[in-house]
Amino acid sequence: MTDKKSTPLTRRQILAGIAGTAMAGATAAVAGTGTMTAAGEKRRWDREVDIVCVGSGAAALTAAVTAVDGGAEVAVFEKAPVPGGTTAKSGAVFWIPNHFILRNEGITDDRTECLQYLARYAYPGQYSPDAPHMGLTPEAFARLAAFYDNGWKMTDHMRETGALNVREFQMFHLDVPATDYLPDVPENKLPKRRALAVATDNGDYAHGFGMIGQMESWLGERNVAIETDHQVTDILVEDNVVVGVAVQHNGGITNVRTRKGVIFGTGGYVHNVEMIRAYQDMFIYGSCGQQSATGDLIPMAGRVGARMGNLSGAWRSQVVLEQALENRAVGAPMFVPPGDAMFLVNKYGRRVVDEHRNYNDRTRAHFDFDVANAEYPNQLLFMIYDDRVAESTGSGTGLPPVHSRASYVVSGQTFGDLSVKLRDRLAGLAGKTGDFQLDKSFADSLEETFKRFNEFARKGKDLDFQRGDYLYDREWHPLWTKFNEDSGHEVNPYPNSTMYPLADKGPYYAIILAPGALDTNGGPVINDRAQVVSADNRPIPGLYGAGNCIASPARNAYFGPGATIGPAMTFGYIAARHALKTPVRQETRG
Ligand SMILES: Cc1cc2nc3c(=O)[nH]c(=O)nc-3n(C[C@H](O)[C@H](O)[C@H](O)COP(=O)(O)OP(=O)(O)OC[C@H]3O[C@@H](n4cnc5c(N)ncnc54)[C@H](O)[C@@H]3O)c2cc1C
Repeated sequence: MTDKKSTPLTRRQILAGIAGTAMAGATAAVAGTGTMTAAGEKRRWDREVDIVCVGSGAAALTAAVTAVDGGAEVAVFEKAPVPGGTTAKSGAVFWIPNHFILRNEGITDDRTECLQYLARYAYPGQYSPDAPHMGLTPEAFARLAAFYDNGWKMTDHMRETGALNVREFQMFHLDVPATDYLPDVPENKLPKRRALAVATDNGDYAHGFGMIGQMESWLGERNVAIETDHQVTDILVEDNVVVGVAVQHNGGITNVRTRKGVIFGTGGYVHNVEMIRAYQDMFIYGSCGQQSATGDLIPMAGRVGARMGNLSGAWRSQVVLEQALENRAVGAPMFVPPGDAMFLVNKYGRRVVDEHRNYNDRTRAHFDFDVANAEYPNQLLFMIYDDRVAESTGSGTGLPPVHSRASYVVSGQTFGDLSVKLRDRLAGLAGKTGDFQLDKSFADSLEETFKRFNEFARKGKDLDFQRGDYLYDREWHPLWTKFNEDSGHEVNPYPNSTMYPLADKGPYYAIILAPGALDTNGGPVINDRAQVVSADNRPIPGLYGAGNCIASPARNAYFGPGATIGPAMTFGYIAARHALKTPVRQETRG
């Protein structure tokens, strides 16, 4: 765990900061309401509701639906001009243990077994199945248990209220149950079937916009609008209880009081370059996450003394370096490099990872540190492939195209030629990549890597990285590769469907890949009730968080398809349920 304790502020400091914000823009105060600030000023409240939900992605809207359904008066503030955040760009797949389809079909998703999988994947360095809390801290274990215990209840709730139409996720057009992202470990006793998706009325995949649209409509029918262009800029505290938020809109700030709590679902900080430089071990070059993911909660929660966790974490994926340097908000990441006649190499021309591993875990290969040379030899990786891949794969997968016409594709007739061209390309980018260069051995090593890879492909056995031995590699390969049988290239006849020998003669191609992310997943730490905790690990009353804005309860483990949205929705639900039970805070002082 990379929890970093933030220095707790004194109550005087907190209130002084808050008073400043509150005084800066209070407008149109609700007559008769007000409280004393630390500076002895009377704070004007402009509006009062039971629960404020901040953001309008999966986490915040699940919380809003749950709170409204529970009878609360709710306000939803979204800083962007359109609702939905990164969720709107997603596949709206959400991973939930023990969900209704499994239960209806009599398929057991045993609590202990499932928690063993979650604990093993999220905390591999601590996991010990027979130890108390499976070797984890009681808090970490409680969060995972809360996810197991509440995920399916949240799903039932969203279906039964009519806020979401839910179906099983079946690998989109391939129509087969989706395999988890770590299906081969013995702890995963149910390696398929836990992934759900939001469906349209006719049962198709609704994707992210559809998901947001369904929840927005449901709220709208109950007269709850998503108030766009409303940015929450501060958390307001009295007597150590969070009692409201400051909201910026049209250049003014209003103070909104809450009787029961504030639930943040504001996404991560993947588009805040300053925070990336401060918190990440290695730069995140680009992201397909929504540009409003700027980590707003981190300084706000810091000011009220929240403990921070997993700040160096992210839901990772590789990106095409040159696309990301042009615009770090990339259209699509290289979720999984497509193709069978393809491998990745580092600056030494060596393979470093199973290229068909899931995007989150594979991207971590970039972070290997060479202790002899004090360098990151994999900071950038090079996707090497031939005409077979360029002409027959990647089209319509949603990945960046790999055909030879793409401006970021470097080509050469021989590996020597390709190496020279890659060197030139890197030289042109040097100021933006920390002067990352190919080693002098690159061309020779690449030739050796090519021969070794081809030998493995012909025999069907990758002796270096076991590509294709894993269920994930084999089952997701057709989705990412989408082989075009009309391309004139043969269907792979070799024993390992994920590998095919590269042609003996060029042209050969290379794409420079860099570490990217869907979003980050660190921030204030929550407990198993989704309450943000203070530096001394006690809940900060009235303050909740869910989704990418908080320290992920799954840490950096991507359990299966939908493993970011599943927990985001679940902790949004838990937060709202807990806030609903909070006794209404009585009339404000003043
Ligand atoms: C192409 C793509 C496909 C993906 N597919 C999947 C998938 O199918 N399944 C899955 O599990 N994950 C998927 N992911 C990842 C997933 O989309 C995100 O992890 C998840 O949606 C985050 O949800 P959230 O509610 O935490 O944040 P978001 O959906 O990002 O919502 C946060 C919202 O808060 C708003 N906000 C921020 N600051 C403030 C503020 N100060 N005041 C008011 N509002 C604020 C933002 O504008 C934003 O609208 C995908 C990601 C991408 C890019």
